[in-house]
Amino acid sequence: MHDPDCIFCKIIEGKIPSKKVYEDEQVFAFHDISPWAPVHFLMVPKKHIPSMAQATEQDAPLLGHMMALAPRLAAQEGCNPYPAGGFRIVVNTGDEGGQEVHHLHVHVIGGPRPWKKG
Ligand code: 5GP
Ligand code: ZN
Repeated sequence: MHDPDCIFCKIIEGKIPSKKVYEDEQVFAFHDISPWAPVHFLMVPKKHIPSMAQATEQDAPLLGHMMALAPRLAAQEGCNPYPAGGFRIVVNTGDEGGQEVHHLHVHVIGGPRPWKKG
């Protein structure tokens, strides 16, 4: 379930401190350490899946749960309401996809512009 060398597994286990946004049985969410925008948090499955490339059909309910959580947590973290506000969801996958941490994670980015990236 957990990869002992994975920083996000260590964050989920509380071995590395983080600013928690949300937690349930399947999902942990926390502030990105280097935010691109006024709101920037990561949602990760508690189960170690290296990237979206390894997600299977069996993971579909988990992935759907994370997508459905995004607007709720975005609002909780201060994103303005749609359509004037909103947020961006990013899932970098693999080296060419820009993935640096190999534990599947969903970036949720929002808040008033300008942003540092994008
Ligand atoms: P990736 O490029 O893999 O999609 O994004 C990884 C993200 O994880 C980056 O935005 C980076 O700032 C964030 N990150 C890396 N290490 C840590 C950490 O130890 N704590 C937190 N909160 N975020 C981290
Ligand atoms: Zn992990």
